[in-house]
Amino acid sequence: MTDLVLQVHNLCKSFGALKASNDVSLDLRPGEIHALIGPNGAGKSTLIKQISGGLQPDTGRIEVLGQDVTALDTVARARMGLGRTFQISSLAMEFSVLQNAVLGALGARRARGGRLGLFRNVMKDADLLATAQEALSRVGLEQAAQQRTADLSHGQRRQLEVAVALTLKPRLFLMDEPMAGLGASGSKDLTTFLDNLRQEAPILLVEHDMDAVFALADRISVLVYGSVIATGTADEIRNNPEVRRAYLGE
Ligand code: ADP
Ligand code: MG
Repeated sequence: MTDLVLQVHNLCKSFGALKASNDVSLDLRPGEIHALIGPNGAGKSTLIKQISGGLQPDTGRIEVLGQDVTALDTVARARMGLGRTFQISSLAMEFSVLQNAVLGALGARRARGGRLGLFRNVMKDADLLATAQEALSRVGLEQAAQQRTADLSHGQRRQLEVAVALTLKPRLFLMDEPMAGLGASGSKDLTTFLDNLRQEAPILLVEHDMDAVFALADRISVLVYGSVIATGTADEIRNNPEVRRAYLGE
């Protein structure tokens, strides 16, 4: 038995001659934020896509809560508790905040193989509304429920994306650059938010914002040219000569 929430074993993925993932192994522990950093093109997003199921590895194995999910599609992995937010927003900008959350709850119901019913009735479905409202209150957006999504700040949109993901009751989160496009105060708010979210579900966090990474991460893995060159605490990574040379530019 393992209490590891996620285990990635020896993943390899090539695009032609390019090894985007070169024997990558890492894991995620309960309650932790594990940050994945590395230069542009290092293979961070490619790794996240293989874990979420959008991209099939050439070789290697992925386990969620001790179960091998390598052969499962994204919907099946979501059903097993894998939540994610996207580098590009998946929100419907003209819809209200509540409508987006209800659509998330509808997706969660579909992932569990539940009844879908008529689309025009979804905003009257008490069960979907309750799930959506609960998710909004957990990210602190209950007051904004009737606002148009396009009128939210960047930071609030990120919180809404997390609320949509929460409707699936995830056991862990994959996040690909959630701080991108946020100003300093937005990043600070999101940092506090993720700091609390980790208790609910641990997070594998791809992030360029080093202040956020060093503030949040229990462990950091450094990916360079498809390979993990180091995994350790913030201090270990800061003081690792190979990391300083390869990534921090020394
Ligand atoms: P990162 O997220 O670390 O910036 P990516 O995972 O997006 O890096 O990309 C890693 C490498 O793989 C890059 O060189 C990128 O051009 C290449 N790559 C990513 N996806 C594809 C694809 N579908 N086809 C071909 N090459 C790809
Ligand atoms: Mg990327």
